[in-house]
Order: sequence, then structure tokens, then C-alpha cells
Amino acid sequence: MKHPLLKTYWRLLGFARPLSRYTVPYFFYSVLHAVFNTFTYTMIMPIVSSLFSDGYTFEPTYSMPKIRLSGECLNEVLSYAYTAVFGERFNITYLLTLLSVILIVSNLLSNMFRYMGAMTVETMRMRTLEKMRNEMFAHTMSMNVGYFSDQRKGDIMSKITSDVMMVQFCITNTLQVLFREPFLIIGYLVMMVKISWELTLFSVLYLPLVALVIGAVVKRLRHPAREGQERMGDMVSIMEESLSAVKIVKSYNCFDYVRRKFSVVNARMSELLLSMARKQQLASPMSEFLGISAISVVLIFGGMLVMRGTMSASWFVAYIAAFSQITRPLRAIIDQFANINQGLAAGERIFSIIDARSEVQDKAGARTLDRFRHTLEFRNVSFSYDDAREVLHDISFTVHKGETVALVGPSGGGKSTISELIPRFYDPQQGEILIDGVSLRDYTQESLRAHMGIVSQDTVLFNDTIRNNIAMGRTDITDERIEAAARVANAHDFIVECPEGYDTNIGDRGSKLSGGQRQRISIARAVLRNPEILILDEATSALDTESEKLVQEALTSLLKGRTSIVIAHRLSTIHNADRIIVIEHGRIAEQGTHAELLARGGIYAKLIELQSLA
Ligand code: ATP
Repeated sequence: MKHPLLKTYWRLLGFARPLSRYTVPYFFYSVLHAVFNTFTYTMIMPIVSSLFSDGYTFEPTYSMPKIRLSGECLNEVLSYAYTAVFGERFNITYLLTLLSVILIVSNLLSNMFRYMGAMTVETMRMRTLEKMRNEMFAHTMSMNVGYFSDQRKGDIMSKITSDVMMVQFCITNTLQVLFREPFLIIGYLVMMVKISWELTLFSVLYLPLVALVIGAVVKRLRHPAREGQERMGDMVSIMEESLSAVKIVKSYNCFDYVRRKFSVVNARMSELLLSMARKQQLASPMSEFLGISAISVVLIFGGMLVMRGTMSASWFVAYIAAFSQITRPLRAIIDQFANINQGLAAGERIFSIIDARSEVQDKAGARTLDRFRHTLEFRNVSFSYDDAREVLHDISFTVHKGETVALVGPSGGGKSTISELIPRFYDPQQGEILIDGVSLRDYTQESLRAHMGIVSQDTVLFNDTIRNNIAMGRTDITDERIEAAARVANAHDFIVECPEGYDTNIGDRGSKLSGGQRQRISIARAVLRNPEILILDEATSALDTESEKLVQEALTSLLKGRTSIVIAHRLSTIHNADRIIVIEHGRIAEQGTHAELLARGGIYAKLIELQSLA
């Protein structure tokens, strides 16, 4: 298991566990399919011989002969069946009818088992892919926030959709390669050896040559396959970006810009797929050509045997039929290897998601935060997003329970970064953030976040009903509580005016609502959650006065009696804050109450002056 490809392969198969649930039935169906399938072709022989009367001789038979692997046995069984159905008098039409019926029945059985086998594979495929997608999605969602700034969403999406589809061949074709085709090959080989071992020896020497030539082509598919999947990721990324920016694209008339971007990756993708198809499509014609050449040589060699009288003509026809059939499973195996190769390339990309380790993790034995008791403290915190440029330097401050602390300062100073460290979206490189004297790293992330509510600038709503957007997946909440939260958030009145009230679907990202309405829904969400610590990133976008007033009122109710850290843009919030911390260039420049800072005449005083002028 040292080889990395083998490792990827086994891990992919791991998703199909327990394998025996599929392999055992598949094994039986395959054996039965192979038995009836080869039997069907064996029936050609007596049909031909009965017409040429060079092999089949009818003798009334009344007891079932002993079953053994030989042409005579087939003769005896046929005679027995004939006698049982039609009696002692021989008639060629009767015989042919009997043969046809046997042919039809055995073929029917063969195909029935093939179908059952195929359905086993399909079930395995669907279950495995479902499990894979679930695991990938869950793992992605559990990653730390920073992961998503480095990875493009489109690429992640394409891994969960398109790579998983690619990988399915890898898993299911394995079953076919291991369990179905070999039995067919063995079945035909046994039949061929029985007919003529000389001819078979000759063909067996020829077949590996075919496999070798085609295998060489197929092996060169894996690299382009991986690149193809990467380009698919690029394409989905561009689509995702363009679709979510459709309004901007239209208003700036930059349709050409996104179209060009898209068509470039699209063209690169087709180019690659075409070069892959060239190799892939070569495999089939090549193997068929090699197969037919083999048959021709067998024809010459076998023809000579017939002429010399070593083999009967009807056996020879049956042999050719078997030989042409044996190339089919053989070709299938080769084709499957091509797919497995591509599947492995996709598999590597899938594991790049599953193996990604979240940078923010719960410590072993982390404790749960059951209540926020007295303080939230930043102690000498320094932080950098990329380990290159420090965004926060040595930040220290304490928020006491029940206080509202406002963070103000020039754009890019680091206010949002501070707010994102509190729910542990990122961990600081230096210093500690402590709740009630215990480092955030010692709490479980889930219990930590359970006590926090975040209301951010960009209201994030789901394409779902208003009710579900407020309840956020919690099903244990009564309608009364949802309504009460909506009232506090000044949202109830507009909600009941919506066509279906609380059951109205608000569209993609809440696009059917106005900006102020979206904000109030997200405030209602926070009210319902009733967090002990509230992190509020006030919207900078201006709402009209009426809407602004409603939102402001809602926020005031939300803040009441809560410990809150507010990234403040509105004068009113700043006035009412217990303390104001001015952040500039990642450092605390000043802190104090509104009155104190005004009196100081520093940065804060200037900011206020600017805002009042505006
Ligand atoms: P504003 O008032 O404009 O929202 P802010 O004070 O909230 O600004 P932050 O968003 O915290 O500022 O950004 C602080 C610095 O960190 C900025 O220089 C920004 O370029 C950088 N930054 C923010 N997010 C990331 C990120 N995900 N990766 C790398 N750098 C980032």
C-alpha cells in the first residue's frame, strides 16, 4: 500500500464500505451471467452442426446423461431434451425449434443476471457518491474561515460535484474489472480450449500484446484528467462569481468582460478534453483493429486445421464466435483502466478537501462555556492573516459584562479583524483572548459561539421562508417566539404584509426584500438567539430616514442589557457606548467615553467633527 495511487484508490473504495454488501451478490450474478452467456454461444455449435450434419447425431436418449465439459455431453443432453419433448422421430425443424428455445431462455437468464449485477453496481455507486458528497460538504463547512479566503468557492463546488462524478468510475469499474469480465474471459477460454487448444494457445499469446499497446495509451490520460478537473474548477468559479454579481455586471455594462473571462477558461477546457478524447477514442478502434487482425490469423490457422480434418467446420464457427466474444470483456477491462486512471486524478482532488486540516480546532479535552460571567479580555493580541503583514499589534482591552464597547477608527484599521477573533474565526499569533479569565482556545468552538450573536454589515439570508431565516434551522422554536423576535426587530409589520406572511420565500440571498428589511430580519435572528455577547458590525450603507429609524430602533432593543462589541459608524451608537476604542493601523490609539475623548481632542474628536460636517 506504499504507492500513492494505490493509497488513493483504497481510500476511495473505503467510501463503499462495507464492500461485501455489494461484492458478494455481484460475484454471484457475474458468475451466473458468465455461465449463461457462454452457454448461449455454445448453442451455436449444435445449430450449425445440425444443419451441416457433420457433428450432431440424434439418438433417442431416455435418461439424463452425466454432465461433463465436452461437446459429446452437449449432444447427449440435446438428444435427451429432444426425446423428452418430441419423441423418437427425428425432424430438423423440431430440433431447430428446440435449439432456438434453449438459446432464448439461456440468453434471457444471462441478461437477467447481467441486469441484477448492474443494479448492484448502480446501488453501490449512488450510495458511495452520496456518502462522499456528504462528507466533503460537511468537512468543508467545518473548515476555519481563513480557508475560504485562500480557496475559491467554485473550485470547492466543482470538487464536490464534478470530481465526485469522475470518481464513480473508479469505484464501480473496479467491481466489473475484478468480478465480471474475468469470469466471461474464463468462460470463453474454457470453451475455446475445449474446441482447440492449439488455436487457443496461439490466441492467448496474441491477446496480452493487444492489452499492452492499449494500456500504453491509456496510462497517459491521468495527468490531463487532473488538469481537466482543475480547469473545471476555474470555470465554475467564474460562473459563481458572475452569477452572484449579475446586477453589477449589467449596470456597468461589463458583460463582455465576464464573457471573455469565461470563454477563455472554457476554451482551455475544451482543448484539454479534446486532447484527452484523442487518446481515449484511439483505444477502441485500436483494440478492435487488433482484434479483427487476430481473428483473421485465427481464420487462416483454424481453416488449415479444418482442411486437415483435425477440427470440424461447426466447431470452428463456434470457436470464432467465442473468440470474437472474448475480446469484448478484454476491451472492457482496458477501457475501465482508462476510467480508473481518470477517477484517481479526481480522487486526489477529493482528498485535498477531505484532508485539509482546519487551522482552528478544538483542543483535546476542551471545556464547554456554559455561561458568560464577567469579562471578555484581549491581552496583548497581535494578528496577521498571512503571516507576512501584521494587521493587529499588541491589542489589549477588557469588556465587562453588560457593557457596550464601540470600535471606531479609519477604514482598514483592523476593527472587523478584532470582531472576527472573538468567535475564533481566526486564532491570534500572539497574545490571548480570554472569557472569564480562560483562553478561547480552551473552550469548544461550539459552546463559545453558542453565547455569541453576530450581526454583520452584509446580511446573510438563505433562499428560504422568513420563518426559517429567523429560526436558522432550529425546529424547537414556537411561532410565538419567532413573532416576538420579529416585533422587537421592527420586522413583524412588513412580514405580515408579505403575500404568505412568515412563510414567504425571500429569494436568493433575500433578494425579494429591501435592504432595511433584510437588516431587520437579521436583527430578529439575533434577538431570537438572545446571545450574551453581541458582535455588531453596523451597516455603513445609508438607508432612507424612515428605514434607518426602524433599523436603529431595532438595534437599540437588541443591544439593551447585553454585552456588546459594536463596530460603530452611527453617531448615536457611539454616544451611548460605555467605552469607545479608537483603532488605527492595528493599534489602540485612544480609549475612553465619548466626553473624555472629545475633551482630548485627538483622532476621535477629528472623526466626530468630520461626521458632523457630513
Ligand atoms: P473598515 O472600517 O473599512 O471595515 P476595518 O477597520 O474593519 O475596516 P479590517 O477589515 O479589520 O479593517 O482590515 C484590516 C486589514 O486587514 C486591512 O488592511 C485588510 O487589507 C486586511 N485584511 C482583511 N481581511 C483580510 C483577509 N481575509 N486576508 C488578508 N488580509 C485581510
